[in-house]
Amino acid sequence: MRVGVPKEIKNHEYRVGLTPGAVREYVAHGHEVLVQAGAGLGIAASDDVYRAAGAEIVDTAEEVFTRAQMIVKVKEPQPSEWVQLRDDQILFTYLHLAPDPEQAKGLMASGVTAVAYETVTDARGQLPLLAPMSEVAGRLSIEAAGHALKAPNGGRGVLLGGVPGVQPGRVVVLGGGVVGTHAARMAVGLGAEVTIIDRSIPRLRELDELFGGRVRTRVSTLESIEQEIAEADAVIGAVLIPGASAPKLVTRPMLSHMKPRAVLVDVAIDQGGCFETSHATTHAEPTYEVDGVIHYCVANMPGAVPLTSSHALNNATLPYGLALADKGYAACEENPGLMEGLNVRGGKIVNKVVADALA
Ligand code: NAD
Repeated sequence: MRVGVPKEIKNHEYRVGLTPGAVREYVAHGHEVLVQAGAGLGIAASDDVYRAAGAEIVDTAEEVFTRAQMIVKVKEPQPSEWVQLRDDQILFTYLHLAPDPEQAKGLMASGVTAVAYETVTDARGQLPLLAPMSEVAGRLSIEAAGHALKAPNGGRGVLLGGVPGVQPGRVVVLGGGVVGTHAARMAVGLGAEVTIIDRSIPRLRELDELFGGRVRTRVSTLESIEQEIAEADAVIGAVLIPGASAPKLVTRPMLSHMKPRAVLVDVAIDQGGCFETSHATTHAEPTYEVDGVIHYCVANMPGAVPLTSSHALNNATLPYGLALADKGYAACEENPGLMEGLNVRGGKIVNKVVADALA
């Protein structure tokens, strides 16, 4: 198959769909790989490095979209990209369609077969292609919170770890999955006081074991959320209902009970956000304020650390991408987990959860 890798064009997105190491694997499987010139600059991989890995370098995204039978990207296609997709192509990338009906319409109109990283499942029903970016975003969320909490950035002026003799900052993590666990790990490492709230009691038991009692755990209810965020310096939004829009766990009236200039980091913003007052921001302008509370809602957080992120993402996507390149759509028929990733085919949304969210 002829596989194409366009340069990412979303604001401040420096990751790349295939690393040179991944290109070598596709070429070893007998595929041709077209890479747009400069696509790897964000991970310090020059066109020559891609050529040495076996890629053909082409000048424009248009040439990639015209010649490739399968497009491998990182972020959801932008409007100028989805108009170039065709019904004889496979698209393999993050899509996050539930909160994005315009993109859903664009992909359906193109007729493309689109497999979304974020809904592919593994044998345990987990999300192997979301997990690496969730690990990155979870760890970054505490850096983002610490930065936004500094007074010159509009925050409360709290050092999350405190110092001897002064109490540390309080971090509340909503959702104890991959993002939440990695956020908690960083916050605990800094010395902050950490509470994790999840709706799954078995998951809270696992977290209690994992952190050896170093974090507080609470079941997700209106009461527990209200009580915890009132005491928080930073709240990390990390809930997920796979394929669906995020539940709005913190409403606007709840903000009035929070400490002035506390920080909300809505990692779940790519699924619409779990705070009522969230709207997507970019790395260029990551924060804004509502009712005295600072909001950080960058939808592509891992894009800020493209080297780490591109390698982590490729480690996870490679076997699935190779299966798609080797067998085309039949790869989905052979692997139920990859079939879960199929979001768009034949002009229709074919993943039930995503279709229900868009209905
Ligand atoms: P996950 O499935 O591992 O964890 C989600 C957790 O949320 C689960 O433990 C689940 O029990 C919990 N949950 C669901 N509903 C809840 C509720 N009402 N109250 C409390 N907990 C609830 O998911 P994840 O991989 O950690 O991803 C979390 C979110 O972060 C997703 O929306 C994902 O797309 C997003 N994400 C964003 C970025 C970014 O750059 N902004 C990067 C990576 C991931």
